[in-house]
Amino acid sequence: MADNQHVSYTENLMKYMKLDQKGNAMAEYIWIDSTGGTRSKSRTMTSVPEGGFKPEDLPTWNFDGSSTDQAPGDNSDVYLKPVAVFPDPFRGVPNILVLAECWNADGTPNKYNHRHECEKLMSTHAAHKPWFGLEQEYTLFDMEDRPFGWPKAGFPAPQGPYYCGVGAGKVVCRDIVEAHYKACLYTGVKISGTNAEVMPAQWEFQVGPCLGIEMGDHLWLGRFLLHRVAEEFGAKVSFQPKPIPGDWNGAGLHSNYSSEEMRVEGGMKHIEAAIKKLEGRHKEHIAVYGEGNELRLTGRHETGAIDTFSYGVANRGASIRIPRETASKGYGYFEDRRPASNADPYQICGITMETLYGAAKE
Ligand code: ADP
Ligand code: MN
Ligand code: MN
Ligand code: MN
Repeated sequence: MADNQHVSYTENLMKYMKLDQKGNAMAEYIWIDSTGGTRSKSRTMTSVPEGGFKPEDLPTWNFDGSSTDQAPGDNSDVYLKPVAVFPDPFRGVPNILVLAECWNADGTPNKYNHRHECEKLMSTHAAHKPWFGLEQEYTLFDMEDRPFGWPKAGFPAPQGPYYCGVGAGKVVCRDIVEAHYKACLYTGVKISGTNAEVMPAQWEFQVGPCLGIEMGDHLWLGRFLLHRVAEEFGAKVSFQPKPIPGDWNGAGLHSNYSSEEMRVEGGMKHIEAAIKKLEGRHKEHIAVYGEGNELRLTGRHETGAIDTFSYGVANRGASIRIPRETASKGYGYFEDRRPASNADPYQICGITMETLYGAAKE
C-alpha cells in the first residue's frame, strides 16, 4: 500500500459507526452512471420502519443527469427509483445502502438502466429458476494510473507466480480484498469467494449463485463496495478488459449459468441445447459483453477468439466451458467465458434469458 494511505478498514468503520440519538438513518442511494461506474448520494430518513426499510418505503429521488452525461442540460432531472436495500457496512445499523434504477422524466427507463429489461425477462422465464454466478475480475491502479505495486518504469517479472499468489512480491493490496470481502458479507451480497489473478495487481471476486434479477443487483453492489473500500486506500478500481497490452492477462466477467432442468439428472441435454442456441446468437451476445472486449478475446491468455464460437469440457480457451465435474456427473452448469470485466451483469443475464427462452412478455 502507499504508506500515506495506510488507514485500516476497522478504524474507518469505527469512525462512521456513531449512532444517531434521534432515530435518524442515513440512506446512501446508489445508481449506475454512463461510464459503467457507480455514483451515490445520501439523505436522512427521519424514522426507521418496524422490520427495517424496504424499497417501497423509500422515496423516489432524483439527481442532475447533465452532470453525469445521463440527461441533457435543459431536461436534466433523472429519477432514482429504489429497487433493493442493504445494510450499510461503513456506517453500521440503522443506516442503509439503496440500489436505485434510473428513470427519465418522460417515464422511460434511462439509457443506462438495463435492469428494467432484465427484470422483465427474468419474470417471464422465472419457471426455469435461473441461477447465475459471475466472476468479477478487476485491476487496482495507483494514483499515477500504474497497476498497484508495478515498478515506476518497466514491468514486473512475467506472469506465473501471481495467480492465487501468497507473499510479498506476488500480490498487492490484499487489505483491500479482505475489507471488500467482509463488506460484501456484512451487506448480504452473495459473494462466494475471491482470488488473486494471473496479472499482478489483478484480483477476482465471485458472486452467486443468485436467482434471477438478484444476480445483477448483487454484482453491482459488490462493485460499489469495491470502489468505496479502495477509495480509502488510494487505489483506483479498473474494470478495463485489457488494462495492459501485451503478454498480460485481460479481465473478464465469466458468467456461470444453470436452469433447474440443468441441475438435475439428465441435465446435460439441456446444457447442450443451450449451447446450440448460444452458438446461433454469438454476435448479439458479443455486442453487449463489454466495450474493448476485442482487445481481450484474442484466443490467447485463456480466452476464445472474439469472432468464433467454441465450447469444450474443461477448455479455458473456448467461448463456453463445461466444467469437468458437470461433464462427469451429467448435470450441473456451464460457463460463458466471453463477457468482459466491464460488461453490465443485467445485460449478460438478460440476453442469456432471451437466447435460451425467448422474448419477455410485456
Ligand atoms: P473458475 O474455475 O471458472 O475460476 P470460480 O470458482 O471462480 O470458477 O467461479 C465459479 C462460479 O460458478 C461462482 O460464481 C459460482 O457462484 C458459480 N456457480 C456454481 N454452481 C453454479 C450453478 N449450478 N449455476 C450457476 N452458477 C454456479
Ligand atoms: Mn474464477
Ligand atoms: Mn479468473
Ligand atoms: Mn471462470
